[in-house]
Amino acid sequence: MTNLKLVSRNDRPSTIVHVGSAAFGEDLVIIAGPCSVETEKQTIAAAVAVKEAGANMLRGGAFKPRTSPYAFQGLGLKALKILAMARQETGLPIVTEVLDTRDVSWISEYADMLQVGARNMQNFSLLKEVGKSKRPVLLKRGMFSTIEEWLNCAEYILNEGNPDVVLCERGIRTFETYTRNTLDLSAIPAAKESTHLPVISDPTHGTGRISLIEPMSLASVAAGTDGLILEVHPNPKEALSDKDQALLPDQFETIVRKCRALRSACISIHANMSPAATSAKATS
Ligand code: PEP
Ligand code: MN
Repeated sequence: MTNLKLVSRNDRPSTIVHVGSAAFGEDLVIIAGPCSVETEKQTIAAAVAVKEAGANMLRGGAFKPRTSPYAFQGLGLKALKILAMARQETGLPIVTEVLDTRDVSWISEYADMLQVGARNMQNFSLLKEVGKSKRPVLLKRGMFSTIEEWLNCAEYILNEGNPDVVLCERGIRTFETYTRNTLDLSAIPAAKESTHLPVISDPTHGTGRISLIEPMSLASVAAGTDGLILEVHPNPKEALSDKDQALLPDQFETIVRKCRALRSACISIHANMSPAATSAKATS
């Protein structure tokens, strides 16, 4: 890949991105929460539930990029205030999406991490603006974008002086209609061998189907993801956005337990079965 002066792996050590006590690139970081912040009650209930289930960060949309202008657009500032209350209540750092260059600096006063969504991945003005911010950035892959285009977008952010970028594979558009998007699992190891930045997976938007979220979360862990972002709602039937893909807290808790167990198993498999470990055993 050409012209990736700052994000290419070369011989660089893997970057660890810290957001509060979460360390992307070190631990399996699990981000969870509602698609949109709807009410104080809904958000606090989701935050408490995901914290109890073992999440490391809280997600929640204040500004929503919706296909229809008539769909719920998010509560804006009110949502950010609710997210700050949820952080106060649970200690979980917050990630929320920023849609507009004009909002980057004031949203940064509330959020611990800024999300650039799939629809804005190549909004170069927005990338430059978050690149000037002091907040870590979660950069989702555009649904029509190649891995190289995605990494070039990370390059824009680093080029403005912000080194803290986490990449997120969230599914791409293909001819398949059974799933909402096609979660491109190969993008996880591909991005990790091409760049030193952490890479996480979004099996929620990547499948759009509750029944597929657990297997694709586990598959992401097996593929080497540095984290997961999952939508959880205390009452999915009433969610104002993405209700068909919102997990109940109990479903989320099971996924967290299985993924953490699989992650430990993967670490020991890699440690004990790599060619170096196998030949060391043979000679001892
Ligand atoms: C989201 O995470 O709320 C979202 C809108 O995701 P994406 O940009 O991946 O569609
Ligand atoms: Mn959503």
